[in-house]
Amino acid sequence: MTQEQRDKYEVVIGLEVHAQLLTKTKAYSSDINAYGAAPNTHTSPITLGHPGTLPVMNKKSIEYAIKLGIALNCKIENHQYFARKNYFYPDLPKGYQITQDKTPICTDGFINLKSKEGEPTRIGITRIHMEEDAGKSIHDVDVYDTLVDLNRAGTPLLEIVTEPDMRNSQEAHQYLSEIRKLVRYLEICDGNMEEGSMRCDANVSVRLKGQKELGTKVEVKNMNSIRNVQKAIEFEISRQIEVLESGGTLSQETRGFDALNGSTLSMRSKEAANDYRYFPEPDLQPLFVDENQINAVKAEMPPLPDDLYNKYTKDLKLSDYDAQNITETKAIALYFEDLISLTTNYKSAANWIMGDVKSYLNEKGISIESLPIKPEALAELIALIDQGKVSSTIASQKIFPEMLSTNEASAKIAERMNLIQVSDESDLNEFIEKVISENPSEAVRFKNGEQQLIGFLMGKLMRISRGKADPKIANALLRQKLNDA
Ligand code: ADP
Ligand code: MG
Repeated sequence: MTQEQRDKYEVVIGLEVHAQLLTKTKAYSSDINAYGAAPNTHTSPITLGHPGTLPVMNKKSIEYAIKLGIALNCKIENHQYFARKNYFYPDLPKGYQITQDKTPICTDGFINLKSKEGEPTRIGITRIHMEEDAGKSIHDVDVYDTLVDLNRAGTPLLEIVTEPDMRNSQEAHQYLSEIRKLVRYLEICDGNMEEGSMRCDANVSVRLKGQKELGTKVEVKNMNSIRNVQKAIEFEISRQIEVLESGGTLSQETRGFDALNGSTLSMRSKEAANDYRYFPEPDLQPLFVDENQINAVKAEMPPLPDDLYNKYTKDLKLSDYDAQNITETKAIALYFEDLISLTTNYKSAANWIMGDVKSYLNEKGISIESLPIKPEALAELIALIDQGKVSSTIASQKIFPEMLSTNEASAKIAERMNLIQVSDESDLNEFIEKVISENPSEAVRFKNGEQQLIGFLMGKLMRISRGKADPKIANALLRQKLNDA
């Protein structure tokens, strides 16, 4: 495919995301909802689909759905009912999935994707509905048999469906990163695509630029990372344009992504589409969500990454980069929130988090909750620097590491290790005299106009003071002394 051919087409993408909810129990039973237990241990008669058993709605999953709906600017529907989606599910013994077909709990929302050019790109959220997951069929453990683990059967899912609003794979990547960040902030899903607790089906089509009707879409499944979703979309775009450019036609189908080759392969075509025979679930009462319930959830909402981003860029005047970086994970944002209630040097606070703190967390592989330095202690260190008591270099190289290992206050460490910055004029003059007497020819050359030698002489001064001279004051005094000499 040539670039010219590529440029004739516009890409259209809509995503369907399944998010596994972090509720204690399953969607319609009191079985434990937990990953990694011994196979078939969370399997009561309801999960096993025994005749005569009755599902009971999990209240938490309704709350979680409302949370996400609010965060995605959706309308929360008051009246809903559940439906049976009938199918031969080898790992869902009932033979149907309980889902919200005609009455999704959340509709008509949107999410804004930030763009470097300024105006954000708005992606419409068509719907969010509640449903249950199937169990797991395991084909690659036993040579002859397929093994079935029903622990996952009946665990609660939210399906989040977008409008066909994305125009390139980069936007799909950005959308998924934002959704993952959001479900993690809300603590409703761990967002782990590698383990399958967040899954994505990508609907991709192309159409000639200027054409109104949407092109024939292909649905791609089986991507276990956001990166792979992007790769699968890229492959599909090329494949579809190549088919069209060579005079062929596309058929509506479901394709699977093969991560090894980075390609997609046909799984089933539209002609073989299933008729699920949806009908209202007779065993679950219709759901009524009232305004009180929605308001109660609203009152409990944690700060959302977008609100914090706006606060940091608009009120604290931090850069886009800093604000994005700090709001990437909720724990770090909350630590930063504490920190900025204790210092007004927001830029310095941001630099400490993005620099020394994050490197330490990465090196140790821990999260900020386990950082031995609490926001109060870090705020004290920032104040120590701002008061000119220690240099930021010394703070970073000597005091911060010592705080990590001894848990002592920064001021105490500075004193004990004799790190207090020297800004007293008579003390600085001692260093300066030493510098001049040890480097007489450079001193003369500076006076005679070789201004750049100040760097060399300051270097000597800092070494003589063992890094403790206040560089600003020392620099001014040194220049003055050299010129007066
Ligand atoms: P289906 O009936 O096959 O489930 P839907 O209309 O419900 O299709 O849409 C499923 C997803 O596919 C949505 O995210 C939607 O935005 C997206 N979609 C629909 N048509 C197209 C298209 N022509 N190209 C790309 N995405 C599409
Ligand atoms: Mg659909």
